[in-house]
Amino acid sequence: MKIPLSAPDLTQAERQAVQEVLLTRHLALGPTLRAFEERIAAYHGRAHAVAVNSGTSALHLALLALGAEEGDEVITTPFSFVASANCVLYVRGTPKFIDISPSTWNLEPAALETALTSRTKGIIPVHVFGLPCDMERIGRFASDHGLWVLEDACEAIGAQSGNQRVGKLAQISVLAFYPNKQITTGEGGVLLTDDADIAALCRSLRNQGRSESGGWLNHERLGFNYRLSDISAALGLAQLERIDEILEKRATVAANYMRRLRDVPWLRFQQIPPGVEKSWFVFVVALTEEFSREDRDAVLGALRDRGIECSNYFTPIHLQPYMAEQFGLQAGAFPKCEELAARTIALPFFNNLQPREIQLVCDAFLEILEKHAPRQSASAGSRPDHS
Ligand SMILES: *Cc1c(COP(=O)(O)O)cnc(C)c1O
Repeated sequence: MKIPLSAPDLTQAERQAVQEVLLTRHLALGPTLRAFEERIAAYHGRAHAVAVNSGTSALHLALLALGAEEGDEVITTPFSFVASANCVLYVRGTPKFIDISPSTWNLEPAALETALTSRTKGIIPVHVFGLPCDMERIGRFASDHGLWVLEDACEAIGAQSGNQRVGKLAQISVLAFYPNKQITTGEGGVLLTDDADIAALCRSLRNQGRSESGGWLNHERLGFNYRLSDISAALGLAQLERIDEILEKRATVAANYMRRLRDVPWLRFQQIPPGVEKSWFVFVVALTEEFSREDRDAVLGALRDRGIECSNYFTPIHLQPYMAEQFGLQAGAFPKCEELAARTIALPFFNNLQPREIQLVCDAFLEILEKHAPRQSASAGSRPDHS
């Protein structure tokens, strides 16, 4: 018996939608791609959507469209999937990391000021694990200092902050559709904007620098092959049809976990600020400060021994070897990020995770925690003081 960390949830209608594209002559740059772009733009109340072959590609094109270039500094979070900082390196810029809020696990807006220099050009906030950043505050800081904002909403489709859906809270917003994301195209991503020039430029850049009107072998600029096929777009379009159902299923799984784990004294959770609605991407808990990184790794190992897949989301980006080396960053640079990253555990989480599987995971997890708990005395009911 094995419970995976993540698993796709595809319906017969979704498989059928892919089949239908395969019966046409349009496997790429066809009507299904355009339909997917129109639907995802409409869902976000955006004028334009440019679909590409990954979220990483969308981030890269967004930075090119924003004019980012060598020497530019971009403020972002070290507690994220690596793509949100790698895109800055693709344009020979410098990611300027700031520490996170230990309660929301998102970048700390109060720290933006500390990273500001004359070379700062923009900010890439990431809605970590589907929890929206304080985009109002980040946006205010950006406009005060003449910076652009690129919203990395790759983990957060459908999340809301004060009745505003993510994906339209900056000049450019980016989503991703890898199979572990809320909706999938197999591989894929999309760039959302209200700016027609940005959209046209990105359409050209994803398609080898071709212009919309020019011939197949005319290339107006240096471009890339970042196209999304109509086969992938068909899957995305069909998944988008039932996004409300998908988000609800995920919220139900999360609520089920929370009922069981909420009062466990050794666990901490990402805090959801008032007025914010999280879109559940993964289910991540943090062990309390009494646990060391070694304790956490032992817990991960013990879960895996029982056939329960789990992970340590995330390894801090600034400590990835090539980042640390290029920018002279070391352990201790962002202590709140590092303290959290040493104690996180992502448990199995997907649409169709069954209540009895959640119970099984929680039973095993609590038993393992009991065994690795640093203080024998700590147990449910006698809550240690973490003030
Ligand atoms: C998934 C993700 C991306 C994009 O990933 P791809 O695998 O390239 O689609 C970008 N940023 C964050 C924060 C992500 O979680």
